Amino acid sequence: MLTSFRSRLIALLLGLLAMVQLGTAVAVLSSLKEDNYKQGVQAIDVARNVFYLSLESRANQLTKGVGILASDFGFKQAVATQEIGTIRSVLVNQGARIGADVSFLVSPSGKILTATKELDIDKTVSSLIQSARRSGGAAINTMISSHGQAYQLVLVPVKAPNTIAWVGMAFLLDKKLAQEIKAVTGLEISFVGDTNNGQEVSGYSTLPEQDKHDLFAEIQSVGALTKKPQFTNSDKYLSLGIDLDAKNQWGVLHLPYKPWLESYNRARNQLLLIFTGALALALLFGILLARNLTAPIERLVEFARQIGLIGIEAKAPAVKGEFCVLANTMMSMQNSISLREEELTNRAFHDLHTGLYNRSAVEQYLNRELPREKGYLVLVDIRHFKDLNNMLGFDNGDLLLLKVAERLLVWGSHAVMQARIAGDQFLLVFDEEITSDECNSLSAFFDEAFIVQGSEVLLSVAVGVLPLEDTILSVNDAMRRLDIAVDQAKEEPGGVAFYQAGQDESHQRQLRIIGDLSEALDSGQMFVVYQPKVSVASKDCNEAEALIRWRHPELGFIPPDEFITLLEHAGNIQLLTHWVIKSVLAQLNIWWSEGHRIRVAINLSAHDLVNEQLPGMIEKALKENNLPVEALALEVTESAVMKDRLKVIQVLKGLQSLGIHLAIDDFGTGQSSLAYLRELPVNEVKIDRAFIQYIDSNKGDEFIVKASIELSHSLGFQVTAEGAENAEGVALLGQYKCDKIQGYYFSKPLVAEEFLRWQQAFKPV
Ligand code: C2E
Ligand code: CA
Ligand code: CA
Repeated sequence: MLTSFRSRLIALLLGLLAMVQLGTAVAVLSSLKEDNYKQGVQAIDVARNVFYLSLESRANQLTKGVGILASDFGFKQAVATQEIGTIRSVLVNQGARIGADVSFLVSPSGKILTATKELDIDKTVSSLIQSARRSGGAAINTMISSHGQAYQLVLVPVKAPNTIAWVGMAFLLDKKLAQEIKAVTGLEISFVGDTNNGQEVSGYSTLPEQDKHDLFAEIQSVGALTKKPQFTNSDKYLSLGIDLDAKNQWGVLHLPYKPWLESYNRARNQLLLIFTGALALALLFGILLARNLTAPIERLVEFARQIGLIGIEAKAPAVKGEFCVLANTMMSMQNSISLREEELTNRAFHDLHTGLYNRSAVEQYLNRELPREKGYLVLVDIRHFKDLNNMLGFDNGDLLLLKVAERLLVWGSHAVMQARIAGDQFLLVFDEEITSDECNSLSAFFDEAFIVQGSEVLLSVAVGVLPLEDTILSVNDAMRRLDIAVDQAKEEPGGVAFYQAGQDESHQRQLRIIGDLSEALDSGQMFVVYQPKVSVASKDCNEAEALIRWRHPELGFIPPDEFITLLEHAGNIQLLTHWVIKSVLAQLNIWWSEGHRIRVAINLSAHDLVNEQLPGMIEKALKENNLPVEALALEVTESAVMKDRLKVIQVLKGLQSLGIHLAIDDFGTGQSSLAYLRELPVNEVKIDRAFIQYIDSNKGDEFIVKASIELSHSLGFQVTAEGAENAEGVALLGQYKCDKIQGYYFSKPLVAEEFLRWQQAFKPV
């Protein structure tokens, strides 16, 4: 909760302060309370003294009053003469005057002779007189209890001159006395007696009726109250009991404690108010102090945060003291961090060898820039650099690269970016247009030899140019197209090629086709069709050419010319050839086992022909399918033969020695002349359809075909014409003694069952 330094500091300050204040408050309030109580006790103590004094002075007064009666001559005489009637009336009158509740006369032996009221105090009086007599017979002043009430009793001897009797008067401790004492002390007072063996309390009181009632109900025994003042009537009074020295009789002083309590409460409330105020002030002060204390820390924290952010040059905050040292340290940390960062970035985006930008830098730049409508990327590829590197040694190779970079910088000085993106590839980014003339001039830059270790080295470069446009969305798009352009440039005589719109798409398609081949072979997308070859002499058809078809699930029908050329380039045409051989021989196995002695020609490509294992493989396959060599023919193009003549002738000889019928395909399109053909171990020449298609209308074609047939025949080859589309052409071919004809005129290539049906039905006219 309290996570920030500032809030913790505030909490700490406040906590400390609150604790101190609470402590003080408790101490002050408790001492106040104690003080209050002490003052109360003091007040009640004073009142007790006053109470005693009051009782004493009343006793003196009473004694005096009774003394006057006892020394009255008339009264003495009446006592001496035992005139009870007189005595009684004097006692009544005199008693009323002094305010006595009971007056009586006692014999010197202690017996009550007459009393104005029955009090049941005979025993007490008798024992009092006995002890007074022993101690000299002075007047007695004491407290007694009668019928549960306290009386002040005065006994004075009647002397004539000897003690002839005692006159006694008892004064009830009543409301009147209580009022008097209250007037002097200012305290409430109760006279309380235990009426029922400590079970019940009763008496007089100056307390309001309700309080008196509550008090008497509350105190069971007053004895406890006499030891020390105690709170009664729910803290309304502080009460102190005073033993009246008469059996079970007490006086109780009541100090109304409410005003004390109120003053205490007032003081407490004031204190609370002061403390709350102080706490609030402390909070304010704490916040200010914490803010003041933490401000530099917060500024340093903010500074640290900014240092953490990339690309922001944070400024050290103005702080003092130790914080200043910290800020300075952080500042120098930031500096070294940014230096190191700069160095790392530099390394990450530069080619350490040439100092040019590297591929990452280009990618980052293009990522930011693409797509954009104008600008040019020029990729310069040093041709055969690997070989040169091997030849010169790596050190010299590096040296050469540096010199190349120098020349490129001269040519492309206005480029916005010059980079080396691969060992032998440099990329220049231009905002302005780059023309093919400029690119040619770049090639010309390399016409001059480089001098490495005293020897001259000539370099050739391929320059691919990509004009930027908004369809180039990503670095990948751009790089792919540049690669296409450079590949193209390698084919161009000038070594420069501009990327042409659409190249990338067909490139994508090509990649797709190459990639999908093996799946296509496995999943039945490929199949073989058979095109009849009709024999002119016998006017029947016992031969066919196997042609492959590919129906791609997404690209649709792919022409064999397209994918075969691609596979030849990619180097996996042999996969296809094997598949075709397998499929065709399986079909032939069926046909021959059914008695259809059909010879099928399979097309081989240049790669197949350099494979020395080919004859052995075919021989084995024929055997496996129970087929004689007559069942199979092979067609090879002139150009395929020319690629690696000696090796191909070797393979062809191997095939021929097996007895397989061999044909030269597409005759007339290649560079070779018939003179070369003479050396080839083949049986047949297939004249290309380009010469046959329009033979009936093109005299030139007609002448070439006629001459080719005659020449081939003279060299001992059979001749097949391919691509015959009409009757006129077929007639001309017949006229020139062509041996076999293949073409739409007879039939398009057909799937196996259709072909067999066609072949069975074929009856030449
Ligand atoms: P190709 O070996 O010259 O095959 C003959 C091509 O001429 C076939 O085209 C065939 O359909 C077409 N043709 C036949 N008669 C006529 C006609 O009267 N008029 C016209 N306009 N064309 C006719 P296709 O099937 O498209 O094959 C094209 C090429 O693909 C083949 O030329 C061959 O070089 C290659 N090819 C086809 N199948 C295979 C194969 O299994 N292996 C290899 N290596 N190449 C194959
Ligand atoms: Ca062919
Ligand atoms: Ca052909």
